[in-house]
Amino acid sequence: MADLIIMSARATEEEVEKVVSLIKELGFQVHVSRGQEKVLIGLIGDTRGVSDEMFRMMPGVLEVINILKEYKLVSREFQAEDTRVSVGKVVVGGKNFVVIAGPCSVEEETGLLKTAEKIVRAGGKILRGGAYKPRTSPYSFDGLGREGLRILQQVTTSLGIPVVTEVMAPEEVDEVAAVADMLQIGARNMFNYRLLQRVGRSGKPVLLKRGFEAKLKEFLNSAEYILKEGNKQVVLCERGIRTFDDEFTRNTLDLAAVAVLKKETHLPVIVDPSHGTGRRDLILPMAQAALAAGADGIMVEVHPQPEKAFSDGFQSLRVEEFETLMAKLRPLAEVMGRIL
Ligand code: PEP
Ligand code: MN
Repeated sequence: MADLIIMSARATEEEVEKVVSLIKELGFQVHVSRGQEKVLIGLIGDTRGVSDEMFRMMPGVLEVINILKEYKLVSREFQAEDTRVSVGKVVVGGKNFVVIAGPCSVEEETGLLKTAEKIVRAGGKILRGGAYKPRTSPYSFDGLGREGLRILQQVTTSLGIPVVTEVMAPEEVDEVAAVADMLQIGARNMFNYRLLQRVGRSGKPVLLKRGFEAKLKEFLNSAEYILKEGNKQVVLCERGIRTFDDEFTRNTLDLAAVAVLKKETHLPVIVDPSHGTGRRDLILPMAQAALAAGADGIMVEVHPQPEKAFSDGFQSLRVEEFETLMAKLRPLAEVMGRIL
């Protein structure tokens, strides 16, 4: 991207002319302003996609300045009003504060059905559960795969609620999309651009989690990849980032990111306090904080017996704890003018 090219006033006419004609060749209008010390050359138009490097290398050029943001479709400048993402009958965005809940991994049908029933009764709107699990160690349980998807389908059709589940590879998108109402892109895949493009063409809403090493600009660019393919149904999820301090929490939950993202983009933003902290006892305060910070919802891990969970038991709420969480969020939602 290049919006403004600064040349030395000592640049020759010929050097300036070379820059001007390159800009014209690229299809932009040019605005040249000659000062005592500098020559300023502006490109008029949408310059995303114009490499600044070719200008930087030209004789007489001192600096190339980018004014436009790298991302466009996701930005508030492009669309002022909030995007509403429909997941089955549930709308994420707008006044709703949507609670997504369920186990980290899908383990077996009966337990999941019972847990999901209680989640729905307590006010959870979307079920979560991984069939394909990205695990840090290749020896850890990595999900039931197809059988997990079958279980999710059974449970959600019998309860009539939508489900979000992770997809890890472009070639698995069709299989997962056949069951899921929303496709989850995990933190580890936020930089997997081929996968982002593929879910951008899936016709399904996408829950995009922030990479634990990702800057917000990179996060927004990842969302841009999905929108660029024609899919505007994207929800962003802050799930904690890696910082120097991991003594008490698994990640550092970046709640300021929520407030920043709500300004930068029209897409809904939710928070995952389970992965964000790695601790069951911190889910409630961080969920309250997320609501207060302006998030459009939360995603929490809930398990009937966390001590026996195949993954992430230590950051999963027991069912009763989930009910307490919902009860405690309710008055706060009212104060914040949100519908829980
Ligand atoms: C998850 O939500 O199941 C998960 C694996 O989270 P993350 O990608 O944020 O680590
Ligand atoms: Mn998990």
